[in-house]
Amino acid sequence: MMLPPSHPDQATKWENVILPPTKDLHKIDVYRQGGGYGALKKALAMKPEEVIEEVKRSNLRGRGGACFPTGLKWSFMPKAGTKAKYLCVNGDESEPGTFKDRQIFEFNPHLLIEGTLIACWAMGITAAYIYIRGEYGKWIRMLERALEDAYSNRLVGENILDSGFTTQIYIHKGAGAYICGEESSLMNSIEGDRGYPRVKPPFPAQVGLWGCPTTINNVETIANVPVIIERGAAWYAGVGSPKHPGPLLVGVSGHVNQPGVYEMPTGVPLLEIIHKWSGGVPGHKGIKAVIPGGSSTMVLRGEALEGVRMDADSLKAAGSSVGTAGLIVMDEDTDLIAVITRIAKFYYHESCGQCTPCREGTGWLWKLLTRFEAGEARMSDVALLMDVANNIEGNTICALGDAAAWPVQSMLRQFRDEFERRTVDRPDDAPVSA
Ligand code: SF4
Repeated sequence: MMLPPSHPDQATKWENVILPPTKDLHKIDVYRQGGGYGALKKALAMKPEEVIEEVKRSNLRGRGGACFPTGLKWSFMPKAGTKAKYLCVNGDESEPGTFKDRQIFEFNPHLLIEGTLIACWAMGITAAYIYIRGEYGKWIRMLERALEDAYSNRLVGENILDSGFTTQIYIHKGAGAYICGEESSLMNSIEGDRGYPRVKPPFPAQVGLWGCPTTINNVETIANVPVIIERGAAWYAGVGSPKHPGPLLVGVSGHVNQPGVYEMPTGVPLLEIIHKWSGGVPGHKGIKAVIPGGSSTMVLRGEALEGVRMDADSLKAAGSSVGTAGLIVMDEDTDLIAVITRIAKFYYHESCGQCTPCREGTGWLWKLLTRFEAGEARMSDVALLMDVANNIEGNTICALGDAAAWPVQSMLRQFRDEFERRTVDRPDDAPVSA
């Protein structure tokens, strides 16, 4: 994949800091020549609690979907105690429509390693696991190579940069299960157990990996940390949307002329991302719908996009969420019933089966939707579909249940007419609700 192109004629100007267009940046010498690992040196000269304060002041919010404030999460880790502490960096990245972390593995893996080391220093952690999606063969090899180089340059391991600080980083490969991107099943997977989500509480900061305090952060979240330390929290907090600031990797897919991953400040209007950054819709067609943040986020109608921005608050106000900023664009000819049926099948397949509403409900959603897709559903199935989704939402151990229910619920609310048109018993002259 090519590096993200620059866009001099765009309305929003931005100079990449997570994925700068530096040739061979994945090589440790090139990374260090550009100042790489300078933020680590700076952080090691600070007290750990000062690093956490700096990250808090930056207002960095997690890039894995939940948008939780990163500095606050770090502050939950116990300061005292004899137990080991762990960091898990979540690069499982398996959500349909989400493909941004692999750009970091490929183009700037040392930024991720540097961020991991700074996070370990800040929280007093001596072992970190970077959990990477098993299907990412090429990117696993690139990350392994970068980590080997960091070890041989004595940037990881014993007495880093002669600071007296020691920490190890391990790469753990997934085995193809989406559910292992859920933080507690990720920890079970690292421990060698089945990737079942755990009941919370207790939360990982108290009882995590091997029963010890653990923090789990997304790859992109950790990649932002060296930028914050190098440029300062004030600079970072001033980028993009004030309540959800910083650079954001937006993965655009679907009906656009230039799909790809684009780095931009938070808060860029969705229509600008589609028409200016991603080259517009092929054939100048209209936009029927978008899914803004990966397949589990709620769908928005194309005509409702005016003024909606790619940040947590704007998308929440519009009835969806920023998720992983994986923007899926669907043009006016898209069969949305086919789209939601495919999404439902994915969650049905990926349900771990621990809890009944998710194990059974995801299958019912998919089966009901196949009836609509085949034109064999009855009008009463519209309400039944919503009922099944409502009975999954909020009644499961982990968020996969909600992730399966929300796209169906939102598709039904936003495009009920499309479902009604696909029923067999709708009278020809029956009104179709919008
Ligand atoms: Fe497993 Fe689904 Fe329950 Fe999550 S919600 S624990 S994936 S059955």
